Amino acid sequence: MDCIFCKIISGERTGRKVYEDELVYVFEDINPQAPVHILIVPKKHIPTLLDLKEEDKPLMGHLYMVANMIARERGIADRGFRTLINCNPESGQTVYHIHLHLLGGRMMHWPPG
Ligand code: AMP
Ligand code: ZN
Repeated sequence: MDCIFCKIISGERTGRKVYEDELVYVFEDINPQAPVHILIVPKKHIPTLLDLKEEDKPLMGHLYMVANMIARERGIADRGFRTLINCNPESGQTVYHIHLHLLGGRMMHWPPG
């Protein structure tokens, strides 16, 4: 499968790894939109949020617990940060392997663009 995130997870391509466990691989976004911009990616290849199955509920909860841990580690927890998942073209999704963005270190705007 020609998936850039699967290649990073398998080591076929390099990513700036932040954290890894049995369920997720976490790395720095190559085109950061904030001082902290980290991608929390399940090792399981799931293309979009719409492809989630009932059995993926614990996995998705784990993604948010990892975001919680990394936000604290990076010192952005109390200041505030944003997590988001893009889904399909109008959201701006460009990589079709589901991932949770963790953004922080600057004032965020609302509504998002
Ligand atoms: P999305 O637009 O939600 O699909 O997010 C995809 C994100 O992946 C973008 O923020 C890209 O900058 C990032 N990205 C794409 N290729 C790589 C890569 N090789 N390493 C790290 N981040 C990447
Ligand atoms: Zn993949």
